[in-house]
Amino acid sequence: MKDTQISIKDDFWNEYTELVRTTVIPYQWEALNDRIQDAEPSYSIRNFRIAAGLEKGEFGGWIFQDSDLYKWLEAVAYSLERQPDPELEKIADEAIELIGQAQHENGYLNTYFTIQEPGKEWSNLYEAHELYCAGHLFEAAVAYYRATGKRKLLDISCRFADLIASLFGKEPGQMQAYCGHPEVELALVKLYQVTGEERYLNLSLYFIDERGSKPNYFLEEWERRGRTTIWAQGEPNLEVYQSHIPVREQPVAVGHAVRAVYLYTAMADLARLTGDVKLREACERLWANTTGKQMYITGGIGATHLGEAFTFDHDLPNDIVYAETCASIGLIFWARRMLQLEAKSEYADVMERALYNNVLGSMAKDGKHFFYVNPLEVWPEASAMSPDKFHVKPVRQKWFGCSCCPPNVARLLGSLDDYIYDVSEDGSTVRVHLFIGSEVAFETGGRKIVMN
Ligand SMILES: [Zn+2]
Repeated sequence: MKDTQISIKDDFWNEYTELVRTTVIPYQWEALNDRIQDAEPSYSIRNFRIAAGLEKGEFGGWIFQDSDLYKWLEAVAYSLERQPDPELEKIADEAIELIGQAQHENGYLNTYFTIQEPGKEWSNLYEAHELYCAGHLFEAAVAYYRATGKRKLLDISCRFADLIASLFGKEPGQMQAYCGHPEVELALVKLYQVTGEERYLNLSLYFIDERGSKPNYFLEEWERRGRTTIWAQGEPNLEVYQSHIPVREQPVAVGHAVRAVYLYTAMADLARLTGDVKLREACERLWANTTGKQMYITGGIGATHLGEAFTFDHDLPNDIVYAETCASIGLIFWARRMLQLEAKSEYADVMERALYNNVLGSMAKDGKHFFYVNPLEVWPEASAMSPDKFHVKPVRQKWFGCSCCPPNVARLLGSLDDYIYDVSEDGSTVRVHLFIGSEVAFETGGRKIVMN
């Protein structure tokens, strides 16, 4: 319900939220600025400076590098909400100014295409992550607005979302398409919730409805590009991108695990908000398959590094596992939405399992070293010598060229209070999902109730 206030009061968890505030967030800011010695460079801030016209140079890092800054800003927002910090807020405001300077007149915002391939925007939705990055921008904007009341990043987001809404859809001249990496769908739901603009909810639903329809957009696009790709080989692999059949018909979890759970998170949101029974049934079916047949005892998902993907039922090798940190974080996002659909304890149990066993273990207690792959069995010599196991690192790393996981850990731990309780709209029912020492305050029947 609205106006519910939750605060964590727990020695174990407060140590982590303090670690995020005092160490993880400042450390990651240094990483985004390429100031960590002997770590792989991020290029993230530099890319924005070049796109904004403040520096000259080539785009650096992965095509989705913008999302690292957005995820960091989201983590900052949660931290500011918990504890005001004018100095940190000033750094964040300056980063937001920079983002605004990199935005095009028409609302478009993506440093890769601005710097490296101007004019080729939206030509490779299969691989180029433009809508994915937009999604992380929207999530950061919603969190920052809620934490500070400042609209700048939200306004940047709405301008971009409005451009996207004008380009994608079923009207003549629009692209009937969706992103290779789901994320914008769940972010548009958040943007709808904070702005009340139904067009954002409808756009999210449009992307969900369009995914996997025939003729397949990714195949058409690939032909149109002269069969060129950025890094994938050959014809688009539709299963890896959960676009082989419409989402409501998908029988089992397939493909890239992070993409899958981000997609299912949005599906669960939309099933709740629209009352779509088929979408809800698909969520329940995919949940049963994922958690009953394709999940490790740690709450890790994604058994193979090839495509960072699910394989098949009960194939859960310990030593060549992938179990990316982001995949377990996405599983927690999805479980949280399933709890909002139906208060079933198994959803909370999976959330707890993934949180304690996979996500927490991925970060060292110093807040500066991380696992990307979370193995259940490590043979350091094999990690160094066997191509099957190069991806399984025996020790946590300082940073990664593809550093999706560390800022994802920061934003999840920073917003953990949102995962503990559900209080019904009239305040008559309180459900506890995570047994974390905490306090919840809300009003019911004109009386203020505090539980701890
Ligand atoms: Zn990751």
